[in-house]
Amino acid sequence: MALIEADAATASETNSGIGISNVTVVYGGDGGVTALKNINLQVKEGEFVSLVGASGCGKSTLLKVVADLMPPTGGQVTVNGLAPSALRKAGRLGLVFQQANLMPWLNIRGNIGLLKSLVAGHGGTVSKTGASVDQLIDVVGLTGFGEKFPHQLSGGMQQRAALARALALDPAVLLMDEPFAALDEITRDRMAFELMRVWQQYRKTVLFVTHSLSEAVMLSDRVVLMSPRPGRIHRIFDIDLPRPRTPETRLTEGFSKLVLELNRELYEVMT
Ligand code: ADP
Ligand code: MG
Repeated sequence: MALIEADAATASETNSGIGISNVTVVYGGDGGVTALKNINLQVKEGEFVSLVGASGCGKSTLLKVVADLMPPTGGQVTVNGLAPSALRKAGRLGLVFQQANLMPWLNIRGNIGLLKSLVAGHGGTVSKTGASVDQLIDVVGLTGFGEKFPHQLSGGMQQRAALARALALDPAVLLMDEPFAALDEITRDRMAFELMRVWQQYRKTVLFVTHSLSEAVMLSDRVVLMSPRPGRIHRIFDIDLPRPRTPETRLTEGFSKLVLELNRELYEVMT
């Protein structure tokens, strides 16, 4: 009996979260650019993992493969035991990019609910456990802005709406590619803490790309440092800083040590 239980536990552990095994991506066929070479990474369910590394080391490519926006040349990806394509068809992948890409003719409420209704319209199974659009408007701090149109909102508020739109699908994973890169420094900083608050609430599995090492350390359970040409995983840092993390966390020795160490390694892999 104990053995069966142990097996079940192992099976659920290997099936949940994101499983990336031996993923290789070559752009342009034979003799093309090897963007990723033999990437192996397991992201546990509910874990927050960031990808960092020099520009061109394959961060976006890896995210695209998990998001089913492109097939890997080799290797395999599973999300909660399923192929990314199955999750995309079911509307269970939450994507947030640098640009919010809101529909200008829809108000914020309409934008947040849009994907949900599109997925339902295509016969997808939108999870019933997802929060309502009105709840999500509150969760991301847009209370009172539901009737506004995108052009009436600041860049930071548009990204809040993009996050709410992704969460509306009750996604199995949240895949975020430099979501705050186009924001000013103060807004960006604020958004990182907002994201952390939302993550604490929903505990989604998150794969997050950033070029800010301090942002990565602040947000993550683990930070994956990638190296370029070809893109590989250089080293994985465990971020064992206690949660909840606050702006004061940055003043701790543990925080600065991790950022410093990441900085040093990043510099090493670039030279
Ligand atoms: P990052 O997000 O870390 O900056 P990318 O994943 O965008 O890196 O790119 C990894 C490598 O693949 C780079 O060398 C880039 O030039 C190349 N690359 C990315 N997209 C394409 C594409 N569509 N066609 C050809 N090469 C590409
Ligand atoms: Mg990129």
